Amino acid sequence: MAKPTKNTFLFSIDLEDVRLRMSDGLHFKPRVEELTEQYLRFLDKHKSKATFFTVGDIPEQYPSLVRSIISEGHEIACHSDKHISVSSQTKELFKNDLLQNLENLAKAGATDIVGYRAPVFSITEKTAWAFDILAELGFTYSSSVLPAKNPLFGWEAFGESPRIVSDKLLEIPLSVRGSRFLNVPFSGGVYFRVLPMPLIRKGFLEHFSKGLAVTSYFHPYDIDTEQESFMHPGINNSWFYNRLMYFNRKNMFERLEDIMNTFDCKIITYREYASAFNGKK
Ligand SMILES: [Zn+2]
Repeated sequence: MAKPTKNTFLFSIDLEDVRLRMSDGLHFKPRVEELTEQYLRFLDKHKSKATFFTVGDIPEQYPSLVRSIISEGHEIACHSDKHISVSSQTKELFKNDLLQNLENLAKAGATDIVGYRAPVFSITEKTAWAFDILAELGFTYSSSVLPAKNPLFGWEAFGESPRIVSDKLLEIPLSVRGSRFLNVPFSGGVYFRVLPMPLIRKGFLEHFSKGLAVTSYFHPYDIDTEQESFMHPGINNSWFYNRLMYFNRKNMFERLEDIMNTFDCKIITYREYASAFNGKK
């Protein structure tokens, strides 16, 4: 098993089709299968296995896509059924949503799931009860905390290191880069597309120097240069944020190759990382 401390890059895709969260979304081109294939080719080129945090409508709409991710040896994990933030749910709703997510994934052949990521990294101090439910359902890790101040969600005091949060459940927080003024993510989604490369490289270097893995999140749309322009759901119809949603998609793979080459990163699944981490305890 790969050592989790040597330039480990926990590369993950939050596998969702934003069109399915829009009332008129199906008017736009379906792109998720083609885009996921592009990520699979990138991972294959680097002989790496990654984690796909998957929402409930993906196995319903694209069961063969889920099967091909599994057949190539990657990990499927939960990303909730309906992609509703944890803070908007009761404990009961959270649990039922998770069970539905598992059921839908199982129908497409994805069983033996041990990992979870909350929609928009929405586990905070106030919703830490979610960890107990995850542990109760047999999950062994979560990657659901943004350890920074954030207008939406964020749990700055959680800190940058993974730790056991309930029974045997390991929380692997999103990597953030500290500065004097604020902590910001650098290794996922819009941040990875927008920040200057020297800052991103510095974030990777700081984490690797401390023996920390870099965790990430990418979406199909982050690499999509062929999707029509539309207002993305979940950003309050903000013109500014919508511009960011489309910004610099064309350079994503160039940036990823830069990071892989600069640091000779080792990509492993979250599952493998969590089991190696627990094994050390
Ligand atoms: Zn998501």
